[in-house]
Amino acid sequence: MVDAGDDLIVIPSVQSTPLRLLRSLVLVLGIVWALPLTAVGLLLALPVMMWRGQVNLVRSQRAPALLFSGPLADYLLERHPFGAMCAMAIGHVVIAERSSLTRRILTHELAHVRQAACWGILFPAVYLAASAWALLRGQDAYWNNVFEIAARKAERYV
Ligand SMILES: [Zn+2]
Repeated sequence: MVDAGDDLIVIPSVQSTPLRLLRSLVLVLGIVWALPLTAVGLLLALPVMMWRGQVNLVRSQRAPALLFSGPLADYLLERHPFGAMCAMAIGHVVIAERSSLTRRILTHELAHVRQAACWGILFPAVYLAASAWALLRGQDAYWNNVFEIAARKAERYV
């Protein structure tokens, strides 16, 4: 509160505070809701860390994540059974290849982190259902998966 004279008192706007609190609450609920997936991601990231890996906190307001990388991640992502990939998100964990990680790829993976926060433990099932739906329509299971389409759209805002 600022005293701007004898009769006029200016009260700073507090409108953003409830919204900020609501946003923080939604963020925490998303982290908790996706916790089982994040636990799986942490289990997968453990060997990455044990073999000269590193972890960084990605401080995204909408989807914070732990970013793991290292020689083992490079090796495994290049030889992923579904094809070579630059990165993958499991809950609030992103495992990325060191040489090909870009801001655009990270943005894509953070979109998947937000999807996991939204769908929680159901996310793997709904992701696979979206791939099955694409296949049933004669489309590509990856490129035409609605979650991948959304993540590619997110890349546009980098
Ligand atoms: Zn993707």
